[in-house]
Amino acid sequence: MNTSNTSLFEPDDTFRDHFSAVNEDGKRNWFYPQKPSGKWHNRRVWFTILILTLLFVTPFLKLNGQPLLLLNVIDRKFIIFGLFIGPQDYWLFGLTMLSFMLFIVLFTTIFGRLWCGWACPQTVFMEMVFRKIEYAIEGDAGKQKLLNKAPWTSDKILKKGLKYTVFLTVSFLIANLLLSYVLGVDELAKIIREPIQEHLPLFTGIVIFTLVFYFNFAWLRDQACTVVCPYGRLQGVLMDRNSIVVAYDYKRGEPREKLHKGQSRSAGDCISCFQCVNVCPTGIDIRNGTQMECVNCTACIDACDNIMDKIGFDKGLIRYTSENAIVNGTNKLITKRVIAYIAVLVLLWSVLAYTIAVRTDTQTTLFRAPGSQYIENNDGTVSNLYTFKIFNKTNRLVHPEIRIEAAGGRLQFAGNPDLTLEGAGMSEGTVFIIMPKSQLKKRKTKLQLSVYQGNQKLETFETTFVAPEE
Ligand code: SF4
Ligand code: SF4
Repeated sequence: MNTSNTSLFEPDDTFRDHFSAVNEDGKRNWFYPQKPSGKWHNRRVWFTILILTLLFVTPFLKLNGQPLLLLNVIDRKFIIFGLFIGPQDYWLFGLTMLSFMLFIVLFTTIFGRLWCGWACPQTVFMEMVFRKIEYAIEGDAGKQKLLNKAPWTSDKILKKGLKYTVFLTVSFLIANLLLSYVLGVDELAKIIREPIQEHLPLFTGIVIFTLVFYFNFAWLRDQACTVVCPYGRLQGVLMDRNSIVVAYDYKRGEPREKLHKGQSRSAGDCISCFQCVNVCPTGIDIRNGTQMECVNCTACIDACDNIMDKIGFDKGLIRYTSENAIVNGTNKLITKRVIAYIAVLVLLWSVLAYTIAVRTDTQTTLFRAPGSQYIENNDGTVSNLYTFKIFNKTNRLVHPEIRIEAAGGRLQFAGNPDLTLEGAGMSEGTVFIIMPKSQLKKRKTKLQLSVYQGNQKLETFETTFVAPEE
C-alpha cells in the first residue's frame, strides 16, 4: 500500500470540457447507477426515515391551535414554528429568509453539500424513494439497461406499467404533502372531502404538481441538481479548500493502477475498478476532484470502502474530508471567512429576535382626514377628524378597541363600526378625537392612543392634534 505523501498525480482537466449528462452527440446520458450499499448508505436510510417522518408529520403538528409550519404563498401568510407572519410583516419574512440564506452559506462553507446528500427533498425522494422503487421492480443497473433495450414483451410492459403507476401515485402523494404545507391539513382535508367542482383551481394545482413531480422523478432526475438547482450552481463560490466534502484522496490513490494478483505493488491505492463511478447518480468520476455535479450522496464512499475491504487496503480512499486535509493533513474549520459569516448571522438574528420581541399584535395607522379642519365646539372642546386602519398581525380573531390616553380626551366614531378583525384581517373607519381646549397649549399637540383587547394593551401609537393658537 502506498502511504507516501509524494503525489504523482498529474491532474487531467479534460473532464471539464464536457458535461457528464450529455454525450458527444449532444444527447442525454441516461445514468444507471448501481445499487449503493454500505455503512454510509445505511446511515442515510435511517436519516431518510427521520426526514420523511418529519416531512409527513409536521403539517399535522399544531401550536396553540395553529399549524406549526405553514407556507401559504398564495395568501402571503406564513407560520414558522408558531410565529405568524402576515402580509403586513413582509419585512419580517424578508429578514427571516435573509438569515436563513446566510445560514445556508455558512453551513455550506463549513460542511459543503451535506444538505444535498442527506436532507434535500430532491435527493431524498429521488435516491431513497423513487430509485428504490425502480430497483425493486426492474432490478439493479445491469438489469435496467437490458430491460430498456429489450423489445416490448408482456414482462416489460408489466414492469414499466407498474413502475410508472407507482411513480405517479407517489408524485400525487408528494403534491398533496406540498399543498398541506401551503394550505394546512384542515383546509386540504376539506378540499378532499368536498366535491371537486367547489375547489377546481386547487384541484388543478394538485394535478399540475403531481405531473411536475412525476416528470422530475421519472425523467429529469439528476438534471434537477446539475442543471436546474441554483444552490448547486453556487457551490464554486460558497466552498473553499477547508470545506468538508466527499473527496478522493489523490495523494493516497495516485498513480492508479489495476491490481494484479501476486505482483508487488508500487502504485497508489486506487485500483481503477470504477466502482465509485458506477454507483454515482450524477455520472461523474470523483477521482477528478470536487465537481459541481457531486451531490455528496456518499455512494462512492461505500463503493470504494467495499473494494478496499475486499483487497485488504485501508478504507477511506474516498471519504468526507477537505482539500487542505488531503494536501497538508490538517484542516481548519473556523476560518476568518466563517467568523465573518457567524458575526453577520448573529447580528441578523439579534435584529430578528428584537423585532419579534417588540412586535405588536395589531398595527394601526390613524391620519387626519384629508382637507379637514379642526372644529371648535360650544362646550369648550376642539374636534379633529381622522381616518384609521387597523391590521391584525396575528392569525386569530381580535376584537380591538381604540382608546385615547390623553386626559379629558374622547373618541367619537362615525357610525357604530364593528372593528372585529379576522386573522390577518383589516378594519377601517373614521373617528373624531375631541379634546378640551384647556389641554391644548400649542397649535399642534402630540396625542397618544392605544389599541386594547379587553384589558390587554395591544399597541400604542401617536397622532397630531390641531387646535386654534391661544
Ligand atoms: S461523486 Fe460520489 S458523492 Fe458525489 S454524487 Fe457521485 S457518488 Fe455521490
Ligand atoms: S472505487 Fe476506489 S479503488 Fe475503485 S476506482 Fe474508485 S477510487 Fe479507485
